[in-house]
Amino acid sequence: MPPTFAQLGVPDFIVRALAQRSITRPFDIQMATVADALDGRDVCGRAPTGSGKTLAFGIPLVALAGGSQPHRPQGLVLVPTRELADQITKELRSFAGKRRIGVAYGGVGYGPQLASLRRGVDILVACPGRLEDLISQGAVDLSAVDRVVLDEADRMADMGFIPVVRRLLDQTATQRQTLLFSATLDGDVASLTRDYQRDPVRHEVGDETPDVTAADHIFWKVARTDRVDVCAEAIDAAGTTVVFCRTRHGCDRVARQLGRRGIATAAIHGGRSQSQRTRALDDFATGKVQALIATDVAARGIHVPGVDAVVHYDVAVDHKTYLHRSGRTARAGKGGVVVSLVEPEKVKELASMQRELGFRTSTTEVDVAEIRQPSRSRTRRRTLEHSAAKSQSGRRRGSKNRSGSRGRQRASHR
Ligand code: ADP
Ligand code: MG
Repeated sequence: MPPTFAQLGVPDFIVRALAQRSITRPFDIQMATVADALDGRDVCGRAPTGSGKTLAFGIPLVALAGGSQPHRPQGLVLVPTRELADQITKELRSFAGKRRIGVAYGGVGYGPQLASLRRGVDILVACPGRLEDLISQGAVDLSAVDRVVLDEADRMADMGFIPVVRRLLDQTATQRQTLLFSATLDGDVASLTRDYQRDPVRHEVGDETPDVTAADHIFWKVARTDRVDVCAEAIDAAGTTVVFCRTRHGCDRVARQLGRRGIATAAIHGGRSQSQRTRALDDFATGKVQALIATDVAARGIHVPGVDAVVHYDVAVDHKTYLHRSGRTARAGKGGVVVSLVEPEKVKELASMQRELGFRTSTTEVDVAEIRQPSRSRTRRRTLEHSAAKSQSGRRRGSKNRSGSRGRQRASHR
């Protein structure tokens, strides 16, 4: 039995508010970090989506907050997107008692945000761009901030926010507690930790390589000229889809071509501006567009829950890329389908990647029914193997009659 929140040192008013939401026992990451954070230690946490990171930082932040002057918050939470800002604000307010939680992000009017800062907030939840904007207007001053949270730091890095985040952190108090949470802790995130955290308590759970075994993996043989039509059919059948192309130019072209076939799309790649990328991600996350067309470079920035499918419009160059791309779907315990459109002359080449991935699946003719029928998905899922040895024999066994429409054959067996 894990300890209770009270045993971790969480103040009574928070314990009671959480209990009203039936939150009584801390999750792993909360157990690992709450007591240390309440003690004032820096925390560097890596944990998968849904593991409870918001309370892991939210509890200490709220517990230690209070009494801030107008325009001068003492707690600051930096987040990549307005959706996340809203979500965190709501969650903090649910147990904050008298502590005032303010929120600031772009794309909406300044009025309410200015008014709340004028009245004073104890904790400000903000997206970097709008916060910098509000500072330049003199609406907020970060010099009293002695407790900072960087949530989804990897996403902020992917979205190009690191320089702004650094400028903002440089304006906070030097005696400061810094909590950082991220799905990955490499690259830019590692340098943030190095430069802005002091001897942080580290807590890392889960594997950094996305686990794609929850998804169904399909490889379809498709002539180059048929790819757009097949891709459109797949999106139609699957729902919200991320489509991967090799080049920026390819992304734009595929987005246009799918658009002509009646599918609402947005493109995201290195050739687009920060605001274009943010808008594309927003439109996809909110369901305004059904398909997001992306390059590999942009892929790391896509953390949209509930993506139904990934289409490798251009096949992945290697198995690592395949895993990273495919990891956009089947997240947080949900299923998903991953389709590779394989040109006939690449079928052989791809076999070695399929082997490396440990898949007992091979390239088959297009059969959109494979996507549409979820009952069969579960059968396919079982053909996924982790062990390379098993996959070898499996492939040999199954390779004979895989050339035809495997999905239909299987359906007729049941
Ligand atoms: P993360 O930021 O790690 O993706 P969240 O903080 O959004 O995860 O938490 C995921 C869900 O789990 C939320 O709905 C949250 O209210 C719930 N939750 C968090 N901690 C607990 C807990 N200790 N007991 C029960 N539910 C929890
Ligand atoms: Mg979170």
